[in-house]
Amino acid sequence: MSVEEAQERILAQIHTLDPTDGLLIEVRGQVLAEDVYASFDVPPWNDSGMDGYAVRSEDIEHATPDSPVTLRLVGHVAAGYMPDNRVEPGTTIRIMTGAPLPQGADTVVPFEETDELDQRQRGRLARDLAEISIRVALTSGRNVRPAGEDVKRGDLIFPQGTLLRAAHLGVLASLGKATAKVYRRPVVAILATGDELREPGEPLKPGQIYNSNTYALAAQVLDCGAIPKTLPIARDTVEDLSSKVQSGLDADLFVTSAGVSTGEYDLVKDVLTRQGSMDFWRVRMRPGKPLAFGQLRREDGSSLPHLGLPGNPVSSMIAFDQFARPAIYKMMGRPLRAPLKLTAMLQETVVNGDGRRCFMRGLVTKENGHYHVRLAGSQGSNILTALAMANGLIVVPEDRSRIDPGEEVQVQVLDGHEDLLT
Ligand code: AMP
Ligand code: MG
Repeated sequence: MSVEEAQERILAQIHTLDPTDGLLIEVRGQVLAEDVYASFDVPPWNDSGMDGYAVRSEDIEHATPDSPVTLRLVGHVAAGYMPDNRVEPGTTIRIMTGAPLPQGADTVVPFEETDELDQRQRGRLARDLAEISIRVALTSGRNVRPAGEDVKRGDLIFPQGTLLRAAHLGVLASLGKATAKVYRRPVVAILATGDELREPGEPLKPGQIYNSNTYALAAQVLDCGAIPKTLPIARDTVEDLSSKVQSGLDADLFVTSAGVSTGEYDLVKDVLTRQGSMDFWRVRMRPGKPLAFGQLRREDGSSLPHLGLPGNPVSSMIAFDQFARPAIYKMMGRPLRAPLKLTAMLQETVVNGDGRRCFMRGLVTKENGHYHVRLAGSQGSNILTALAMANGLIVVPEDRSRIDPGEEVQVQVLDGHEDLLT
């Protein structure tokens, strides 16, 4: 089975989750489940874009630095307050950025274009000013932000399907919305299986190793915007595996690691097949060939999708990226997009012995605007440090048994290294 075929088969069984109301502070990276309209103008009134003086533009038509126009000061207005005066001919109101423009005024003259600073240097306080000299002529509307300039009442602001980023959340808040209707973040149960595994922090006995998959996978789940539910390690017994599986059935997606190859102690197959339906696939990729996908049954008869990842740490992470990530995105209503890619010149020979698609851990550098890539350490599926050191995955196509230095290759940019593309 090709990587694409496996992806398609998985996605065909994944559904977008129900919409829910989320607090604005919590919905970053989630997708809007409804169209959002503005129920009022932003800004709601004409307001000042500067600290300065609200004037009638015709009053200052002839103002120049050499022959300024003097206006009588009849009030002050700060952001958060309404002006309590009109601006009549020959008068002005001192106004701060964001304050509503007084009736009668159509223009704001910034402080710098008046004699305010001169008067204050002579010891006068802003609140005691009686007159202000204006030194420029400004056309009507200058430094005034008209009502509805940002958002007009009734406008469709964001359509359903919008991915909410920081600025979107700011706009929703500016419209007074405390919550947004979004597709729920999936809870992803993560279950590591194996008698040899111990949790970091515990002492190791001979023959044992630390469970790294749970932690790397949980971080990947968070990177996707979903919620990891890490389960205690399942031992290689039917009883323990069954009970650990039970404790994760309330999740939206169940991810296991290990136990899907053909080892003697691989009970995952047996147990999970009994608790649902399960297909075992040999995907034409390296690393990550053994993959399982199916459905687990809950007590109430409903089911949740299950992805069985290989046990080797590099394989489980790369298989997660290829198969779990698109599934999580679909559950969240996020548009599926191909992994970010770049084209780089290979710096050393790579070989691909058995016609699978290889995702090799690579280190991309950029020199004079051109990308170069070499291997980021040894390529065993157990060599997790090479993946930690890599910034991209060199994609070696199924039909290329060898690629030589100087040839161009495609590289999938790893999460967190998007700045390579700039
Ligand atoms: P298995 O699929 O059970 O045969 O495991 C394949 C390899 O991955 C073995 O070397 C396991 O020890 C290793 N492995 C399995 N699970 C984990 C894990 N959670 N963390 C680190 N290594 C693991
Ligand atoms: Mg095992």
